[in-house]
Amino acid sequence: KEAENQMLVIFGASGDLTRRKLIPALFELYVRRLLPEKFIILGAARSLMSNEEFRRKQSDYLSASSNISLNSKELGSFLELIYYVAFDTDNCKEYVKLKEMIVSLQKEKDIPDNIIFYLATPPAMYEVIPPFLKAVKLNVSLHGGTRKIIVEKPFGTDLKSAKRLNRKLELIFNEKEIYRIDHYLGKETVQNILVLRFSNGIFEPLWNRNYIDYVEISSSETLGIENRGKYYETAGALRDMIQNHLMQLMAFIAMEPPASFDPESIRDEIAKVFRSLRAFSTHDCHNSVIRGQYTDGEVEGETVVGYRKEKEVAADSNTETYVAMRYMIDNWRWSGIPFFIFTGKRLKEKRTEITIHFKSTPQQFFKGQCAGSSCNQLIIRVQPDESISMKFGLKIPGAGFEVKQVSMDFYYDSLKKDKLPDAYERLLLDAMLGDSTLYSRSDALEASWRFIDPIEKEWMKHPTRNLLYYKAGSNGPRQNLIGPEIFDSGNKTKCDVSDN
Ligand code: NAP
Repeated sequence: KEAENQMLVIFGASGDLTRRKLIPALFELYVRRLLPEKFIILGAARSLMSNEEFRRKQSDYLSASSNISLNSKELGSFLELIYYVAFDTDNCKEYVKLKEMIVSLQKEKDIPDNIIFYLATPPAMYEVIPPFLKAVKLNVSLHGGTRKIIVEKPFGTDLKSAKRLNRKLELIFNEKEIYRIDHYLGKETVQNILVLRFSNGIFEPLWNRNYIDYVEISSSETLGIENRGKYYETAGALRDMIQNHLMQLMAFIAMEPPASFDPESIRDEIAKVFRSLRAFSTHDCHNSVIRGQYTDGEVEGETVVGYRKEKEVAADSNTETYVAMRYMIDNWRWSGIPFFIFTGKRLKEKRTEITIHFKSTPQQFFKGQCAGSSCNQLIIRVQPDESISMKFGLKIPGAGFEVKQVSMDFYYDSLKKDKLPDAYERLLLDAMLGDSTLYSRSDALEASWRFIDPIEKEWMKHPTRNLLYYKAGSNGPRQNLIGPEIFDSGNKTKCDVSDN
């Protein structure tokens, strides 16, 4: 399938996301001849810049961040697809200027009236820009063309705000035209979960409560909050990582086989998983969720400051930079099987992976060697090196029966020699093709907030209860515990209970 000829209008084009992710992804698509034959990128923001200046900024970044020569012919012809319009995006009247620019480019380049709008602005603008597009009738095509709008994360900060944003967008665009992006779903390994599960007969019979002991989804980062203090103070790890990225990974692991492999059937199953999550009681909010915040420490040999000393962070901030959660999915497949999520910043290593722990054999002949659910694991690694590993026990050659856990590993270089496409490449192309499989649907998104909200509310009521501190560069709170044991260990770390 080829993408139809179209124009991509990026709001917030003077920002970091456009420069670091969107333009490089579009350039890769261009190099791989995946962009439509007639295609234009129109950057829009308030900063005053000419087309030439905007192009130069993008090309400087492209050549500094990759091996692309500034003189490369491909870069030159790609830059010719890029235009820029400066106007006050906060002012409805100014959208006439945007419309004029769009219409004149469409005429000049003979591009049909197919437009994708990309909201890469601060989230507050997600509710502002669409009504202005409607006011100048840019949200519909009067010439039989198509409209799509891609909305960046965060999509709301709780259920109420997510619902409000959904309702506002639905007044302007159809649900099928709204693409809520979660770049984790653009990663190869994440999409491979669907292929691994639904194209291999060997896994499906085992993929349930009878053979799986528990599922662990962990995402640790060595990075801190990277000058995003202002945003992070209002988000925290639960909203920043769990509500979107990690819950999406969980949904791919937990979902039922879809009726067919089309976007709506897949998204139906994702929504069902979120609706089956057991709601957290007040007790669960404190006993099945552990939160932490990093203090001064050392990461990869470098001394780093604690969260409260970061720029634009309150000196007495209680925002969590670490969360561990234990929860249940109340459906036929997963009844009684705990799921765990771990995520944190400034931890010892950067790693995102899903581990399926299989139950042990009914009788254990080789106790203490490769036994229990730690013996048979399927590990799906999302980063840093995307891979899939199967772990099981085998006999060490020689006398007796000495058992060792071995690993059968799959790495992508056996399938593809050059680098894997960036998540934004896949997602942008899918939007151009009109494939929303890897984008969140409104009902699923609201269901995920419905699950997260009670925890946030409890934390608001008790801002410091069970807030644990961990040294930057460690494994998180409760030092040596990085698996489910963390929930059974009692409170062994300094815990501020001043508000109890
Ligand atoms: P950014 O660097 O702050 O850029 C946002 C751009 O929006 C600015 O260049 C600004 O340009 C424009 N803008 C328009 N109206 C604005 C207003 N009223 N107030 C302030 N700025 C306004 O942010 P970003 O990192 O590119 O992120 C953009 C969005 O993507 C955010 O919602 C973020 O959460 C999301 N996101 C970013 C990343 C990332 O890697 N950067 C990753 C995931 C999600 P003008 O001042 O020229 O108008």
